[in-house]
Amino acid sequence: MIASVSKTKEILNKYNLRAKKQFGQNFLIDGNIIRRIVNTAGINKTCGVIEIGPGIGALTEEIAKHAKKVLCYEIDSDMVKILNENLNADNVKIVLEDFLKADIEQSLKYFEDCDRVVVMSNLPYYITTPIIFKLLESENRIEDFYFMVQKEVGDRLTGKPKTKDYNSLSVLIDFQANANLEFMVSRKCFLPEPNVDSAIIHIKKVKKDYNVNNRANFLKFVQNIFALRRKTLVNNLSSQYGIKKEDSIDILKKLGYKETIRSEELLIDEMIKIYEEFFVNN
Ligand code: SAM
Repeated sequence: MIASVSKTKEILNKYNLRAKKQFGQNFLIDGNIIRRIVNTAGINKTCGVIEIGPGIGALTEEIAKHAKKVLCYEIDSDMVKILNENLNADNVKIVLEDFLKADIEQSLKYFEDCDRVVVMSNLPYYITTPIIFKLLESENRIEDFYFMVQKEVGDRLTGKPKTKDYNSLSVLIDFQANANLEFMVSRKCFLPEPNVDSAIIHIKKVKKDYNVNNRANFLKFVQNIFALRRKTLVNNLSSQYGIKKEDSIDILKKLGYKETIRSEELLIDEMIKIYEEFFVNN
């Protein structure tokens, strides 16, 4: 089994490697946590799994035992070499590629004989947000995502409106998914040990009946109105779209909002109303 301190050190030493900070490498070394993650995701022999960032394969090995097929995207060629030489599973395909550049639609062809496709990852923390955006923006058959994230990120992803944790990612998730924090994972379960604890979150895509004209533009609008965190909505509209502050204030007043309103104070329905007033009705 790969998931232990001694085995992880042994593999890294054998290849004369250290965990690479620039790729967010913190390897899981706790077999119980790994089994719990795979168990939580309900992986079985009808499932296909896309794993982002397999590293030296600690989680991959356990996923492969339970899944029908696993497709892994790894950016680091050293890790791919290790996986090819050490991973003992014939249902795993390793692709050397930056997941942010991967063609998800294409990859789904690999899973045509699977009943369900799940994405799993101990996420490289430096690209948590772009990865989740990429996965949620694309429309396809994948509905379930199980991610290891830093605890604070987990709080934000499951954040509720009108709290400080609410941001564009919380809205993106709320708009089309439900997110749950499944369980906490101590920083001691990783090598090297990070400065913060982590959490396993489950994001499930669901149909919600928000009615919005041009979904993609609306999601872009959401990112824009949270771009300057400490500024008001009026300031964000001005800096992101060049809309004159007086014009924004007029429109917001007409809709019944004060000019000092901030994006995190709005519910999704209200964001849709404001978006349509600014960009659809006028
Ligand atoms: N899955 C392993 C584990 O749990 O022990 C490693 C997890 S480590 C936190 C993140 C992994 O993602 C590393 O192997 C890193 O090289 C890889 N990675 C980083 N950026 C990536 C990207 N853009 N695309 C694919 N893999 C990436």
